[in-house]
Amino acid sequence: MYHWEWQDIELEFWTPREFKYPEMMAVVQLRFMDELRRRCGFPLHNNGDGRLDRDMLRIYPELTLATMPDSAHWVRGPSPENRVRDCQANDIEPEGRGILPDAEFNRRMGILAQKALELKNEDSFPDVGVELADRHVHVDTFVDRVRARRPWYWVGKSR
Ligand SMILES: [Zn+2]
Repeated sequence: MYHWEWQDIELEFWTPREFKYPEMMAVVQLRFMDELRRRCGFPLHNNGDGRLDRDMLRIYPELTLATMPDSAHWVRGPSPENRVRDCQANDIEPEGRGILPDAEFNRRMGILAQKALELKNEDSFPDVGVELADRHVHVDTFVDRVRARRPWYWVGKSR
């Protein structure tokens, strides 16, 4: 078990070291990530969690903070004062890209997507959003400001 000091919870699979901003993570998202990992049965890799303003500008250099589309990852603000525990989004993939044989990696990517979609239908996580992208699966657990403008699953392209 791994202790998450900011949230004061224990997770079975995920350690804070696997996150860029572990202190910004919401408890519901961490519990979702742990359950998803359990159901997959193989290690997952976290490619992205919370994003400060500077992270958004790095990912979308062609945009400004004013013109950027909203994101469930975006914990708005320039500084650590904004690091409240309300990030409810992760971009993940099976561990082992470039190490596992392609066929096995792709099989696991399919299982990951399937398990994420399945969890939406369960009472514990009724507000899951899932993006099936070419190089990751995005999962979030209800971010109020983006909920109204999107379906609960969609396809996308990794940046
Ligand atoms: Zn994402």
